[in-house]
Amino acid sequence: MHTFEFIRPADQTAAIAAAAQSKTAQQGADVRFLGGGTTLIDLMKLNVETPARVLDINRLPLDKIEAASDGGLKIGAMVRNSDLAYHATVQKDYSVLSQAILQGASAQIRNMATVGGNLLQRTRCVYFRDTAMACNKREPSSGCPAITGHNRTLAILGASEHCIATNPSDMGVALAALEATIHIQGTKGSRAIAFGDFHLLPGNTPHRETVLEPGDLITHVTLPAPIAGSKQIYVKLRDRASYEFALASAAVVLTIASGKVTRARVAMGGVGTKPWRLPEAEAALTGKPANDATFRQAAEAALRNAKPQSENKFKIELAKRCLTYTLRTATAS
Ligand SMILES: Cc1cc2nc3c(=O)[nH]c(=O)nc-3n(C[C@H](O)[C@H](O)[C@H](O)COP(=O)(O)OP(=O)(O)OC[C@H]3O[C@@H](n4cnc5c(N)ncnc54)[C@H](O)[C@@H]3O)c2cc1C
Ligand code: SF4
Repeated sequence: MHTFEFIRPADQTAAIAAAAQSKTAQQGADVRFLGGGTTLIDLMKLNVETPARVLDINRLPLDKIEAASDGGLKIGAMVRNSDLAYHATVQKDYSVLSQAILQGASAQIRNMATVGGNLLQRTRCVYFRDTAMACNKREPSSGCPAITGHNRTLAILGASEHCIATNPSDMGVALAALEATIHIQGTKGSRAIAFGDFHLLPGNTPHRETVLEPGDLITHVTLPAPIAGSKQIYVKLRDRASYEFALASAAVVLTIASGKVTRARVAMGGVGTKPWRLPEAEAALTGKPANDATFRQAAEAALRNAKPQSENKFKIELAKRCLTYTLRTATAS
């Protein structure tokens, strides 16, 4: 591990000013915020991240979950994943979020991990985490050995010829289905970003993963007012039952009336280069009878543009079955 300066900024303004010294907020950043450290410290030990300065933001007052004035929920960026998953309002009105968090990592990691850190966790692509290997995401223009190498767990949606890495977050999939908004404070003031616009597709710049600029601090996430009577389910399929990332997962928020789907929000994990919202599936569901035929049609629409890698063609059918099963389970609940 490289040596680094450890700083505890006195307040938000000092944290942002110190982070703004970094030449980038993306891969290669020389200043990093420290949340729970469960991603950052791992990657520093592997020399994948080598910040010269680490800014501990654990004492900033960003750890509250509060009712928002529009009837929604405001979640501080430093709220621990466990606290969010077990919060009474989240369990009652946004249960898909609670389910998704509790199917990720382990209890110990969830106790440390923060909302901001979870949004910015990095891919588990083995080449990204091994500095002896080339990787366009870690070292721009060095190549992508995953395309011809180990890619069983990697993306079938949103990949480019430069990077096929999956976004590993479970929480992010639920936030996509719940249409969350991410709130950022930076050197030029504050801004709100719709969840779907926060993560970037790899394109030819896979080292740029989000819209964040140097100095940008995620302060909180908001959820819109809950949808009355909605059925919410998160299903995660993986190689072993716990402590494992998704091969395919689905978050659905469905409203059904008189046997028909009146509103559908659908997102998937384990298959895309970012938490993957599926408007095609939502359109295929809305107004249709809530039955298996409709669910399968939605799954076909969802995966229509999927492009498998050499080792993961199985993910296409797996993802379709995952989504069909999730929709069926939501309807039955
Ligand atoms: C063994 C293991 C298994 C795991 N399994 C799963 C799993 O199954 N599913 C899953 O979803 N996740 C899984 N994870 C990932 C885990 O969820 C993340 O490591 C965690 O959510 C990151 O949160 P953190 O607060 O520890 O982030 P940190 O490591 O503190 O930070 C991560 C990044 O976010 C930045 N950051 C943190 N807070 C802010 C902020 N407020 N504003 C701007 N930037 C910020 C940091 O600078 C850093 O770049 C696993 C992790 C491990 C180690
Ligand atoms: S898939 Fe992306 S993260 Fe993995 S080796 Fe290729 S460029 Fe790197």
